[in-house]
Amino acid sequence: MGNVYAIANQKGGVGKTTTAVNVAACIAEAGYPTLLVDIDPQANATVGIGLPKDLEPSIYEVLSGDARAEEAIRPSDIPGLEVLPASPNLAGANMELPRLAGSETRLRDALASVRERYAFTLLDCPPSLGPLTVNALVAADRVIVPVQTEYFALEGLAGLLDTLALVQRELNPRLTVAGMLLTMHDGRTRLARDVEREVREHFPSLVFDTVIPRNVRIGEAPSFGLPVIHHDPHCAGADAYFELAKEVAARA
Ligand code: ADP
Ligand code: MG
Repeated sequence: MGNVYAIANQKGGVGKTTTAVNVAACIAEAGYPTLLVDIDPQANATVGIGLPKDLEPSIYEVLSGDARAEEAIRPSDIPGLEVLPASPNLAGANMELPRLAGSETRLRDALASVRERYAFTLLDCPPSLGPLTVNALVAADRVIVPVQTEYFALEGLAGLLDTLALVQRELNPRLTVAGMLLTMHDGRTRLARDVEREVREHFPSLVFDTVIPRNVRIGEAPSFGLPVIHHDPHCAGADAYFELAKEVAARA
């Protein structure tokens, strides 16, 4: 019990939120109690799972010490999946967190009382390596790194791995990379195949076997507040996220 995954990459638009929402939904669907924690002020995971982005208390109040995680966690429409939502006021935490005592361990400490209730907890990180992402990396056991299957895919990954090594050394010795995940892969293009080969050669054994295809259904699902497995259970995107969830659970 109690596996905690951060979904992190300082680049925006690479599929972090999509992966957090859909892996959480697939794992819950498989019968494991699952918690999705949104720590991005954009609150895309919160909205993408069907909750409003102005709930109080939210992760902001939890990190500030004004609410306990238990008070902020809400049920979702998906059986077995609960959500600790974000709201735009979380942007203030980037300024405020560094001034608070134990600023880097606040998320880990806040989740300590609830993490054993869930087989899996997924932390959807913002697109930066700032204080919120550091809190996620300190709270997590493993990191999933979505990588958009595009030119420049490798750019920035070295910096991210340096940050992971630093957090592991200074703050969280348990932290390991669960895997890099190739997202938005367009199998019709030679570029996508070349990028996939390059990433696999560069990081042997670190890349998930499952590749997430570029898929219209995945892109439109958040506008319905649904994970893709409920928006269109039989599309290629739903199949891929089910496969990924199996791989994640098998490696856990
Ligand atoms: P991040 O959280 O890293 O910023 P998102 O998960 O929000 O990235 O994805 C960025 C955009 O791309 C969103 O509009 C999302 O719906 C879309 N998207 C993500 N993955 C796919 C995919 N496999 N196929 C098509 N669209 C996708
Ligand atoms: Mg996001």
